[in-house]
Order: sequence, then C-alpha cells, then structure tokens
Amino acid sequence: MHKDVKKVLVSEEEIVKRCEELAKEIKKDYESKNEIPLLVGLLKGSVPFLAELVKHIDMDIKYEFMDVSSYEGTESIGDVKVNLDLRSSVKGIPVLLVEDIIDTGRTLQEVKRLLSHKGASDVKVVSLLDKPSRRVVDIQADYVGFEVPNEFVIGFGLDFNQKYRNLPYVGVLKDECYQ
Ligand code: 5GP
Ligand code: MG
Repeated sequence: MHKDVKKVLVSEEEIVKRCEELAKEIKKDYESKNEIPLLVGLLKGSVPFLAELVKHIDMDIKYEFMDVSSYEGTESIGDVKVNLDLRSSVKGIPVLLVEDIIDTGRTLQEVKRLLSHKGASDVKVVSLLDKPSRRVVDIQADYVGFEVPNEFVIGFGLDFNQKYRNLPYVGVLKDECYQ
C-alpha cells in the first residue's frame, strides 16, 4: 500500500470483478434495444475505469473523451467548463458517459444536458463510484460500481492535486497529506 494511504475502500480485485459484471449488464441492455453505445470518458478521472470496463464489453463499441472541470482542491464549484470537446458528432447516437465518481451530481447534469443538446439519441451514465449522501441535484447513474461514504477518495483515476490517480485501488489519504 502507498505510504500516504490510510485505508483501502475498494481493492483492485473487487474493481475488476465489478467491471465484468457491469460490462455484462451494459451489453445485455443495449443489445436488447439493438443499439451500440458510444462510450464517452470524462478526463482524467475515468481513464483507468474506462480501460478496465471496455475490456469486458463484448460488443463493437467505440470510445471518446471529453474534459470538463468543476472541481478545485476538494470542494465542488457550480458551473462546468468544457476544456476538451468531442471530435465527432453524437447526433442520433446513444452515449454512455463514463465517470469516476458522482458527488454533488453537478458535473453530470451539465454534461448530460450538453450531450442531449448536441443531439445524442440517449445519454446514460456508468460511474465507478457514487457518493449519494453528497448529492445536490436530482441525478443518478444508470450503472454504479460501488457506493462510497462521504469521504474524499483517491486512486483508480481519482486524484488529490493530480496525484494518486495511478493507484490500482480506491482509498482514503492520511490526514497529514492535507496539511
Ligand atoms: P460533482 O460535480 O458530482 O460534484 O463532482 C464530480 C467530480 O468531482 C468527479 O468527477 C471528480 O473528479 C470530483 N470528485 C468528487 N468527489 C471526489 C472525491 O472524493 N475524490 C476525488 N479525488 N475527486 C472527487
Ligand atoms: Mg471527474
């Protein structure tokens, strides 16, 4: 375990197993509608999760990335800013947004609105983590890996000041790391 980590909340093994389950669910749902989703990962946090998830989705899917920002330090701020937009049109295409964590829900609400505005036929969400206790807008992921308590988490894509994204598990930092 990394020396700055106080405890591991979700292990690598649990994440891989859950990705297999989510991938099966996603395939079943989209196949029943005769659709293939375009996966859109939100940079940078979703990268390890997207990479693990797509390995297990047994369909000819494609994926793209968007970069929006709504977070500074450890507190969420209102509006999202689009730093990197999609390269191709999503008009008439079912989109499956891939997120690292849903906290207040503001980011997701804005990005969903944006993609609908761009003409996506449908926008669904898969999130590795969900912190339902922090929600301020009425939004839910369609697929969730794990629920986490109201603690600031890092690892498997999630950062603190851009660090710890490469940890293969989700955990909580020692208190002294915030000083
Ligand atoms: P929301 O708009 O739902 O409040 O925030 C979503 C974004 O905030 C996430 O995509 C993530 O980048 C960041 N975030 C929210 N909670 C946490 C957390 O516990 N740890 C880290 N590292 N980032 C978080
Ligand atoms: Mg994010």
